[in-house]
Amino acid sequence: CGIVGATSVSEVLPILLKGLEKLEYRGYDSAGVYVNYSESKDYLIKAKGRVSALEEETSKVEIHGTSGIAHTRWATHGGVTVENAHPHKSEDGRFYLVHNGVIENYEALRDTYLQGVTLQSQTDTEVAVQLIDKFAKDNQLNALEALRMMISKLDGNSAYGFLLMDRQEPGIMYAAKRKSPLLIGVSEGTNVVTSDATAVLDITHDFIELIDGEVAIVSKDKVTLLNEAGETIVRAPYHLDIDE
Ligand code: GLU
Repeated sequence: CGIVGATSVSEVLPILLKGLEKLEYRGYDSAGVYVNYSESKDYLIKAKGRVSALEEETSKVEIHGTSGIAHTRWATHGGVTVENAHPHKSEDGRFYLVHNGVIENYEALRDTYLQGVTLQSQTDTEVAVQLIDKFAKDNQLNALEALRMMISKLDGNSAYGFLLMDRQEPGIMYAAKRKSPLLIGVSEGTNVVTSDATAVLDITHDFIELIDGEVAIVSKDKVTLLNEAGETIVRAPYHLDIDE
């Protein structure tokens, strides 16, 4: 339903939680956040119900980290449970994924590729992140290559806004979309990715639009866009002239 991610020179948890609060008007049933401190230290926290319930959980832990992704879920596949809330992670905890939309052929993909994997949720989204991990392992792919391979397997009717993190690459977010909005917000020292500009207007009013089929690699000081063929493309940010 709603996505916000951030990579920055400073702490991102406040950006992520504020972003989720701004997304509340869209409606949702659960919420979650992943924050990366380092390759060996990260946090995954989810809660049913309101963003304030998630904030109560995050306040119980001292969370530090300069990159992270967050999500408000509107369940389409799998009931409203903490396990089904996003972000979803791969079996070994390497990849973390938030997703807006629906993967139409997730059952066929699960049955074809994930026989040996124990799924933790009933969602279509978890199948996507487990596929990324499987493809990375089996074919020695990096996160970008594994993400693109996963996307290539999705049924044409599927809709997605994906935001992925690889624990082995702190500070980097991978964004991809099809039939579901995703924007990259740019500013000095902090770059963000969101499904809805209003979630991040206190960070920036400058946005790069992501177009269907594209993938973006976003770090705190750089944004790289790739088209469907994997070629680098350049698109200037536009200024969104609205108030917070
Ligand atoms: N299909 C996913 C799920 O049910 C994502 C739903 C959403 O867009 O929030 O978990």
